[in-house]
Amino acid sequence: MVEVNVEQVGGGPGDATHASWLELSASNLRHNVSVFRSLERAGATPRAVGVVLKGNAYGHGLAQVLPVVHGSVDVLYFIAPQDALFARAYEQANGLAPRQMLVLGAVGAEESVALARAGVDAVVADHGWVEAVPLLRAARLERPLRVHVHIDTGLGREGFTLEQLPREAHFLTESRDVLQVVGALSHFANTEDVTEQGYALAQLDAFETGLAFLAAQHASDAPLQRHIAASAATLVLPQARYEAVRVGIALYGFWPSPETRLSARLVLGELPVLKPVLSWRCRSQVVKWLPAGSYVGYGCTYRCPEPTRIAVLPVGYYDGYPRLASGKAHVLVNGRRCPVLGRVMMNHLIVDVTRATSDERPVTATLLGRDGEESVSAESLAGWAQTLHYELVTRLGAHLRRVVVE
Ligand SMILES: *Cc1c(COP(=O)(O)O)cnc(C)c1O
Repeated sequence: MVEVNVEQVGGGPGDATHASWLELSASNLRHNVSVFRSLERAGATPRAVGVVLKGNAYGHGLAQVLPVVHGSVDVLYFIAPQDALFARAYEQANGLAPRQMLVLGAVGAEESVALARAGVDAVVADHGWVEAVPLLRAARLERPLRVHVHIDTGLGREGFTLEQLPREAHFLTESRDVLQVVGALSHFANTEDVTEQGYALAQLDAFETGLAFLAAQHASDAPLQRHIAASAATLVLPQARYEAVRVGIALYGFWPSPETRLSARLVLGELPVLKPVLSWRCRSQVVKWLPAGSYVGYGCTYRCPEPTRIAVLPVGYYDGYPRLASGKAHVLVNGRRCPVLGRVMMNHLIVDVTRATSDERPVTATLLGRDGEESVSAESLAGWAQTLHYELVTRLGAHLRRVVVE
């Protein structure tokens, strides 16, 4: 009888040989952290290097990325409270010194109590937080919850606008017993979209105005930890680095955009090298010949003009391979480009391996990453699918096996 693990039902391909996997390069992750360490050393004061682990560590896998970066960074940023609690539990289980952690996303009143107990910082971004105050008081905490005030300086997402700040953030001064304001943050709207940072500079001005208000309101407290820079601003707007930077996409070895790359060369003099961390591979399910004239895949959108050796790969849009890349993408087999034929299916991808292999034995395909002289970047695959590398990697299935390699 076959044993069924109910927790895994529906999770993904059950057959480990016929499932794709992600390889994460620990040395490239460490290298990318060191790029930001050396940037920060170049500043006047030592700053905190923080890394953003939201979205399952940008699809790379929180459980795999956390152990590699934990020892070399100062702050860990999350969106979901449960991810921060997972990271605290990881520290405790391994006897590690606790890192500063901050949940950037929305926090429910009950979750705020859990964060306070775990010593995880939270972001107060709106007046709704008054509801958490009675709950926090009732919890009789040993220490208040450490919070960072989010100022909306022009993204139009979360945070108090400069108009709201004096009116709506007032409850913080009356809740000092349970909410300790330790920081202030904001987030840029378009630093990676442009090479001319006029809008970002206006956001910085607004941030300064908000900071001045908060500093006056919390004059008796320790100076606030100020942070506004994500990857792009950290690289191209040195004046935005303040006490901490929140490095997301660049931690994983990607430039936020071509514009950021151009600007970084000008601002930093030389271009730091970012090394992609992730490769995505699979073994073929079947390799076989199709006669000339055969159709391939749903909709019969592809017809082989000549006898074609195809490989059926156990990867599809369920796993995060974008269907929009149909007819445009290629994968790598034995260091050669192999075009994706016909449509990307839910669990299958068909590629032309006529010239990449000489027989019908199984092959290993690289969907993302390097194979010999060739590589497929997340930017390329995202481009074929008319999206961003950010979206592509964060949509890699949580069910995929992730292995950390050196
Ligand atoms: C996602 C995010 C970041 C990181 O952005 P990257 O462009 O990936 O570096 C930083 N701060 C906030 C508030 C975010 O939501």
